[in-house]
Amino acid sequence: ENTDESISISGDFKDFKESSGNNPIEKVSLVVSVYNEEAVLVKFYKEALPYLKNTGKKYEILFVNDGSIDSSRQILNDIAAGDKNVKVLHFSRNFGHEAAMIAGIDYADADALICMDADLQHPPSCIPMMIEKFDGGYDIISMIRTGNKSAGIIKNIASNGFYTVINILSDTKIEKSASDFFGISKRAAEILKKSYREKVRFLRGFVQNLGFNKTTLKYEAGIRAAGKSKYSIKKLFKFSINTILCFSDLPLKLGIYAGISAAVLGFIMMVYTIYSWASVGTPNGYATIIVLLCFMFAVLFVIVGIIGQYIGIIFSELKDRPIYIVEDIKNIE
Ligand code: UDP
Ligand code: MG
Repeated sequence: ENTDESISISGDFKDFKESSGNNPIEKVSLVVSVYNEEAVLVKFYKEALPYLKNTGKKYEILFVNDGSIDSSRQILNDIAAGDKNVKVLHFSRNFGHEAAMIAGIDYADADALICMDADLQHPPSCIPMMIEKFDGGYDIISMIRTGNKSAGIIKNIASNGFYTVINILSDTKIEKSASDFFGISKRAAEILKKSYREKVRFLRGFVQNLGFNKTTLKYEAGIRAAGKSKYSIKKLFKFSINTILCFSDLPLKLGIYAGISAAVLGFIMMVYTIYSWASVGTPNGYATIIVLLCFMFAVLFVIVGIIGQYIGIIFSELKDRPIYIVEDIKNIE
């Protein structure tokens, strides 16, 4: 416990401590990731803007264009040309939703950040409630979806299963139905910016892991205003595996358990073989050998595969390539 205390009053973290407290926030930043959302962008902007204006706070809307190949780029530039509070980051190519959110967190300039999707599945009507929470001194606002009309049954079951597995495997408790819709204070964002630069990551998990004053709000996930979902089942599967690997080393330990189990089984087989050899003469060893061989190799290959996955992660961390590349910016100095 002592170390925690000494961290919070030493060095860099001193600033975070001082910036905390129950002072109302002055400025809020809406971070919006955009990938081929030409059909909804203007609608989103028109719908979100009044909520921001009515709070009486200073605000910015930071659109992160994640390498869209439709007319999203032009639409965003047009919106930015007419509104100085709208900032735009254009990526050089598609880097993924999480990379877009990370870039938004990096470039946002406000006391509080709200990350949300552009497709209006995250209702802008939640913004005032979230700002109220920030004013009340909360650092992390997790938005919990109460219903997901758009996702099919399979996606919902898969999502439930995923959270169950990740919560069993890692010591981090990750809220079920936590979404990519969340609010974070500036000091929490600073920590994400400085210390959570992992290449294989799960931003939602990181956010819930920071500690600080956390709160949750419920929202009804709407249907996509227009356009198509960019997350295929395949993408989600890969994403889930990566998340488990980055949050837990339990799979590696499973290898040890499998090894020990195989050793115990092997020992039993050995005792049995010697016994039957001594009592009834030489047993028919062929079937036994085949079965054992297959079993042992199966265990071995699975373990090697798991180790390979972790080496893959180490490899990508080591290469240290950028999480995203910004090609152009609008209304950002
Ligand atoms: N998105 C992104 N990069 C991607 C895929 C999606 O920035 O590679 C954005 C997308 O424009 C949307 C949000 O992330 O604002 C969520 O994506 P989507 O609605 O397709 O996911 P779903 O809601 O179906 O899970
Ligand atoms: Mg969506």
